[in-house]
Amino acid sequence: MPEPTCAKCHAALEPGEAREYLGQELCEDCYLDSQTITKTCDPWAVHTAKSLKDLPGGQNLTPLQQQLYDLVKDRGEVPLLEAAAHLGLSEAELRREFAPLRHMEKLRACKKDDLIHLTLF
Ligand SMILES: [Zn+2]
Repeated sequence: MPEPTCAKCHAALEPGEAREYLGQELCEDCYLDSQTITKTCDPWAVHTAKSLKDLPGGQNLTPLQQQLYDLVKDRGEVPLLEAAAHLGLSEAELRREFAPLRHMEKLRACKKDDLIHLTLF
């Protein structure tokens, strides 16, 4: 039988040291590396960090507030009910997320054709 080696760095594996990751045998170090990479590659985490950094003043928005802000920023103007549907929220929940954004003067609401639209402040 061949010596067991790490699939990534090819170091010889001590008995009991091998960790299985995505069907590969890895040494402890490479296994921990893989875990870190998986976390950094989470697109939402990266997206959030990036968007927060881009905000003037860098206020901390909740992920939902950030999503709402990004949606309005991308579209320019979004009917309130459509924004709620887009984020999977009820109208009441969306209004609760919207309130601090209006307070921070990031978003505002305007009435158009009897519908409430959200726009950038
Ligand atoms: Zn290794």
